[in-house]
Parts: sequence; structure tokens; C-alpha cells
Amino acid sequence: MSDVQKFLQLVEAYSAELDNLSMEVWKNPELAFKEFTACKLQCELLRKWGFEVTENYCGFETAYRCEYGSGSPAFAITSEYDALPGIGHGCGHNLICGASLGAFIALTEYMKANNIPGKVVLLGTPAEESGSSKVKIVDSGALDGVDAAMMVHASWRTCLDTGCLSIKRFDVVFKGKASHASGSPHLGINALDAVNLTFAGVNAWRQQLPESSRIHGIVTEGGLKPNITPDRAGCCFFVRADNPEWQDKMNNRFLDIIKGAALMTGCEYEITKVSSGTKARKPNSLMNQLWMENIAELGSPVDLSFGPGRGSSDFGNVSQTVPAIHPYIGISEDHTEIAGHSAALCAAAGKPYALSQMHKASAAMATVGLKVLTDADYREKLKIEFNK
Ligand SMILES: [Zn+2]
Ligand SMILES: [Zn+2]
Repeated sequence: MSDVQKFLQLVEAYSAELDNLSMEVWKNPELAFKEFTACKLQCELLRKWGFEVTENYCGFETAYRCEYGSGSPAFAITSEYDALPGIGHGCGHNLICGASLGAFIALTEYMKANNIPGKVVLLGTPAEESGSSKVKIVDSGALDGVDAAMMVHASWRTCLDTGCLSIKRFDVVFKGKASHASGSPHLGINALDAVNLTFAGVNAWRQQLPESSRIHGIVTEGGLKPNITPDRAGCCFFVRADNPEWQDKMNNRFLDIIKGAALMTGCEYEITKVSSGTKARKPNSLMNQLWMENIAELGSPVDLSFGPGRGSSDFGNVSQTVPAIHPYIGISEDHTEIAGHSAALCAAAGKPYALSQMHKASAAMATVGLKVLTDADYREKLKIEFNK
């Protein structure tokens, strides 16, 4: 029997508990940093299995760290469990925590049975959708001594980690002067005009951007009544790129557009919030290859037509610190396309088919972990590619 088949058997021995965890999380969607039930359920299960768990990890109430073994080599698995406002688990994070705990228990059981030295680290990382806890968790040294890291996300189809973009969020408020919009327009300064000109500037700029870049925004404030010249208006933009150089260029250009819009209208402006941002994801091709072989062996072949990822994730910061991958497991039973962040994906993430796919994801993740822990030559190759 191959390693991945053995791992699937180990995962299936725990399937009642893993499925219960995933479904409880699915039924009780909790938003970023409020994942109290999801965090508690994972910590309770890990303790029941005999592991020690550090809660309130890195100062986050809903983060945790759990370790098995000691020293080197070390493999890390990250868990996510936050939901989206309005559409619950429309990103399927209930399957991520189930898959990660499944991989952790299967890999550690295998290590015990076969006297395999090394360490497995499971990190409970809240607020992926909004808040990006992995930035602080990684910066605080959570991955010190770790040779490679992994997690698996749900999607409509099984695919490799094809990377994702870095992101920075800007919140801007323009301040003008109110006046009667019809009776005394000449005494007003229109803050909404500055917002409109920001969108015009961004839209004109878009054509000159590389295909991999993204910029998209919403209006957060736009005035009170048509007969009052808006003295205050605001917008929020996400700026994304596939490398730090373009991210910096785009950040600076966006700020110039804001300044230009303020100058054209005579408004003042204030950048009310700038996120620390997350980094672009750097997938390791050797780990992707191993994922592809093992998940295919379990009957879920990788769809290679999937192009470069254009979302963003705080796992980007993990992948820029150690060799890592964040591939996807398909949960669309009839293989039709389902949009991410949708009610349809939420529905699919609560079905028995998704749970059976989650078990396969755990098993394939465990085979990658086992290779990292037992093959020094492979670890060296991962490092060489990472440092390129
Ligand atoms: Zn999402
Ligand atoms: Zn997600």
C-alpha cells in the first residue's frame, strides 16, 4: 500500500471527529478574530488526542499552536476557520481546519508507529479573510526552524498552488466645504468630485498596468443629500501586484492620484487607514508536484488549466518565509464551476462529498509532510528553489 493510501486509512479512522469539527464550524460561521467556537473545537479535539495546545497564540484570542515531536526537521501545517459576512463559509474554511487537523493526526500517528524523528507544528491562524493574522504570527518567529509549510484550500476543482498577489488596502477621505448645491454652488468645495476623479484616474491608469496587477475600489461616503455640496466623501481601494517592486510602484502611483484629485477639486485629503498588507504567494514546485501525484492517486486529479492565482492570502507571508504550498481540493461534485465567496460554495462546503474530499486533502498533505521529514535531499532541493 502506498503512503498516501496508508494516510487516507489513518484519516478515515478519525473521520467522525474531523467531519463533526468541519460541520460544526460550517453551521456556526464566525467572522475574523471572533472564531471562538471554531478555535475551541479544534483545541478540545487536539487535547482529546493527547496533544498540548498553546491558546491565545501571538496575542490573538482565536489563534493556537500545537506541536508534536521535537527538533529538526520540522513541517508546519496552518489551519483557517473564519467565515465571510453574509455568506457564511462561502470560502470553505470549515474544510481547511478539518483538512489540517486530519493531516496533523495522520502524520503524527504515522511518525509514532514508525519512530520517525522531527517535529510537526500545527498553527491555528484566524482572520484570513480580513485581518491577516499570519503576518504577525510569521513575524513573531512561528516558523523558526521549520523546513516547509502547507495548507489546502477548497475550490470547485483540484489544482496546484499557482501563487497569489500581494495586497495593500487604502482608506481615503476627502474634505471639502458644504454649500447649497443649487443656491450657492460657488461657495462649496465638492468632496464627491475628488472621489469621482480618483476613480477616473485609476481607470485611466489601468490600461498601463501589467496583466498581473489589480486595483479595485468602492465608495464609502458620498454625501448626504443632492442639494448639499458634499463636504466629505470617501473611498476604499485594494491595490495588488505579483511582486514587491510593482506593489511599491502602484502604492505610490495611487497616492499621486489621490493628491491629484485633491488638487483638482481644492479638497483636503486624509489617508485614514493603510493595511500592512500581505505578500504574494511563492509556491514551491517540488511540493506542488508531490501534491499532484498523491491527490491524483486518491482519485482527484489536478486540473492544470488553472492560470496564475489573482487573489491574495496571508499564507503569502508563510511562503515568503519557508518553502510552502497552498493548493486546492475540488468540492464540486458534478465538476461544474462554482464562484469563490458565494452562497453556492458555502452550500458545497457543507456536503458529504466535500468532507470525503477533505479526507483526501489531509492524506495528500501528510505525504508531503512525511517527505519533508524523512528525505534530507528533498529538503535541500526545496531550499535551493526557495532561495532562487
Ligand atoms: Zn476567501
Ligand atoms: Zn479562503
